[in-house]
Amino acid sequence: MHAVVCIKQVPDATEVRIDPKTNTLVREGIPSIVNPYDLHAVEAAVQLREKYGGRVTVITMGPPQAAEALQKCIAQGADEAILLTDRGFAGADTLATSYVLAQAIRKLNAENPVDLVFTGKQAIDGDTAQVGPGIAARLGIPVLTYICAIRSFNLETREIVVERLLEEGREVVAARLPVLLTVTKELNEVRYASLPSMLRAARYQVRTWNKDDIEADPKQIGLKGSPTIVSRIFSPPQRQAGLQLAGPAPEVARELVEQLLQRGVLTA
Ligand SMILES: Cc1cc2nc3c(=O)[nH]c(=O)nc-3n(C[C@H](O)[C@H](O)[C@H](O)COP(=O)(O)OP(=O)(O)OC[C@H]3O[C@@H](n4cnc5c(N)ncnc54)[C@H](O)[C@@H]3O)c2cc1C
Repeated sequence: MHAVVCIKQVPDATEVRIDPKTNTLVREGIPSIVNPYDLHAVEAAVQLREKYGGRVTVITMGPPQAAEALQKCIAQGADEAILLTDRGFAGADTLATSYVLAQAIRKLNAENPVDLVFTGKQAIDGDTAQVGPGIAARLGIPVLTYICAIRSFNLETREIVVERLLEEGREVVAARLPVLLTVTKELNEVRYASLPSMLRAARYQVRTWNKDDIEADPKQIGLKGSPTIVSRIFSPPQRQAGLQLAGPAPEVARELVEQLLQRGVLTA
């Protein structure tokens, strides 16, 4: 079994701020983490490898410092990590990002056929949830989104049966391999890295591929390959706390009616 997991390095969401003057994310001094959903994707791939054998390859497109995020995934049990980095990739929207990732998966597939591609259900910074389906569309393979359980996996019949987390319940679906899965945090519990895997991660040399390594069409990468225009980015205004009334019922009722009259919800 060969599983490829796409992971993204994101700013720690608890510390993200937006510059009110420039309307851009303030990234300086913000620690980076692996997108939390992607850790569940790595865990799922590692669990399948433990059961069925094979390899787990993690890939990311990002600046050179994204190698740290890949190393964290090696500590989580991935076998190999590839950083897709090139000045030409800068300014990529989801269309260009999914193109670069799909080109890298094609190259990996030529080296060792890929059965499964995993992504998180969304990235906590960009939040579009478009990259996973975008990769699948480019590779021409089925995509199963919002996966919360893997019911069965059979390399001989080349079938996988999974549960999808929907708002109104769960849906059980089957697909033929190769397939791309986007995963939710309900899928599994992410393990703590063991000491030997942390040591291996510390020594591990991440492989680096640039635009030529993945035979990327220059017109489909970076800003040139990105038709999306971000017209504005802003924090939604903070909601005011609601009015809380407490006390004996007749007093609360009187106060409530008064408030509703004052706000024009009721007329006298
Ligand atoms: C015009 C434009 C310019 C931009 N320029 C930049 C820029 O210069 N630098 C920058 O960092 N961002 C830039 N962005 C943001 C960038 O497009 C998105 O962060 C990226 O395409 C992923 O989209 P998302 O965050 O919504 O991911 P989602 O679609 O929500 O992610 C879903 C899953 O896809 C996978 N995934 C997503 N991104 C990657 C990745 N890079 N590598 C591996 N797996 C991934 C992960 O598994 C993730 O869980 C730009 C966006 C636009 C519109």
